[in-house]
Amino acid sequence: MTKLIYDADIDGAALDGQTVAVIGYGSQGEAHARNLSESGATVVVGLRPDSTSAERAREAGLNVTDAASATKEANVVMVLVPDTAAPSVYHNEIEPNLQDGALLMFAHGFNIHFGTIDPPGGIDVGMVAPKGPGHLVRRLYEGGGGVPALFAVHRDATGTARARTLAYAAAIGAGKAGILETTFAEETETDLFGEQAVLCGGVTSLVTAGFETLVDAGYQPELAYFETMHELKLIVDLMYQGGLAYMRYSISDTAEYGDYVSGPRIVDERVRAEMKRILTEIQDGSFAKRWIAEGADGAPEFRRMRGENARSRIEEVGAELRSHMAFLNPRSAPDGWTDDGRAGSTPEAAAATAAGARERAE
Ligand code: NAD
Ligand code: MG
Repeated sequence: MTKLIYDADIDGAALDGQTVAVIGYGSQGEAHARNLSESGATVVVGLRPDSTSAERAREAGLNVTDAASATKEANVVMVLVPDTAAPSVYHNEIEPNLQDGALLMFAHGFNIHFGTIDPPGGIDVGMVAPKGPGHLVRRLYEGGGGVPALFAVHRDATGTARARTLAYAAAIGAGKAGILETTFAEETETDLFGEQAVLCGGVTSLVTAGFETLVDAGYQPELAYFETMHELKLIVDLMYQGGLAYMRYSISDTAEYGDYVSGPRIVDERVRAEMKRILTEIQDGSFAKRWIAEGADGAPEFRRMRGENARSRIEEVGAELRSHMAFLNPRSAPDGWTDDGRAGSTPEAAAATAAGARERAE
């Protein structure tokens, strides 16, 4: 009685005769456009005239134009520009050019859910959100597999939104791994909560606090780095393969006992209460409002925090240690990424930031 949807449950013909515009050619855009095209869909990529990705898209054999022209030609328009850029791209280039009965799609629910994009009535609105970075969406497809995805239909004006959204998901390979139905609200709220409380915010704060506790107590920073950051991957890999029990089975009994007695002291009632408050701020829109206002103002707080965090002790120690571990394929954000956007910020730095979005995902 699986709720998941697989290729056999999907009518791939729902996209027959349709043109799909993929707007943006970054982490997700490149993967979607190439997978769709190889699955037999007619694809047009919509990019800014000065886009540095256009050449790469053409080399991949794709038809490239600007976002407005791509939208005019298309029955399905997938918006794969950064979520903060999507409202202006949508209002200036997409909405005025949407065909009647077009299906407007997203890979994340943020703008529809928080109302920063509000498509006109006759337009279908759907979502396919791969649960993995773009390079995996591409690599697994090439190997005959796929990344699982969430799908949702926000509005079905034509009666074909569901079939077309599912056919799209299958064409990028998600039907090989499993597609789970959700709503724009559920996807947006859980995605924001997960990245804030656990995956990004929770983990980075935990690692940093553990590292600083050891260093402040006089232990060697290199040792503290190995202990609190380097080893984390080994633990996470075990959890990924076999859940918490398999990880606990694989570690020593001493480590497992310490896990049970000390873990709940770290993530205690206060932390759980704070998680609930964070979830409430996501649900009531106050996080979105703060982030949208920050973006509208040139994101000074965001840039300041990015710079401060990038210059922290654990980052300095870690960069040096990783530079001796070539087998890790050490990576770093491009020069200029931590520029705080005030005096001295250059267009080159801004371009490096945009390029970094791709690099980081790989
Ligand atoms: P990205 O930053 O990798 O790529 C964005 C692309 O849009 C780039 O080609 C960039 O040049 C282009 N672009 C930027 N500003 C533009 C503008 N003003 N006009 C036209 N094009 C512009 O973005 P991404 O990570 O692929 O994210 C795209 C969508 O996919 C977002 O909705 C995101 O939430 C969602 N998503 C991303 C991931 C992921 O792993 N990266 C996973 C699931 C969902
Ligand atoms: Mg996510």
